[in-house]
Amino acid sequence: MKREFAVIGLGRFGGSICRELSADGLDVLAIDIQEDRIKEFKNIAAHAVIADTTDENVLKELGVRNIDHVIVAIGDDIQASTLTTLMLKELGVNKITVKAQNDYHAKILDKIGADHVVHPERDMGKRIAHSIISTNILDH
Ligand code: ATP
Repeated sequence: MKREFAVIGLGRFGGSICRELSADGLDVLAIDIQEDRIKEFKNIAAHAVIADTTDENVLKELGVRNIDHVIVAIGDDIQASTLTTLMLKELGVNKITVKAQNDYHAKILDKIGADHVVHPERDMGKRIAHSIISTNILDH
């Protein structure tokens, strides 16, 4: 069976994506380098594995190339995020979404060929600001 999604990095952002996709009945492969994160997601995602995704052989063994859409939600470790994205691209993953830590990181991710680069805190800040503005307009 062709797997639909993989989420790499199960922090608040990646964990939330993994929970929502899984709750919607989608087939998610959850990956994190930390064992405690994988224990937490074992009963949430269809598959959960401890792995360091900066290792190309690990990505090959996991069959990541056959996954339609991979979400890279490694935050603080920009090098690990960038390297993982580059290898996913080289393996021919169809669609890659990556969480950027800052503008420089986003620029590199764009160059590498990430399909969608997101800035969760910034994007959510904008959305909340616009919702405050529209509520304010309605109140007047
Ligand atoms: P968030 O900001 O989403 O809450 P966080 O602060 O908990 O995340 P981050 O450092 O941003 O943690 O990393 C997100 C997740 O990515 C962590 O659970 C971390 O273990 C995982 N991670 C980091 N490096 C790798 C790697 N090389 N391979 C797989 N997972 C990794």
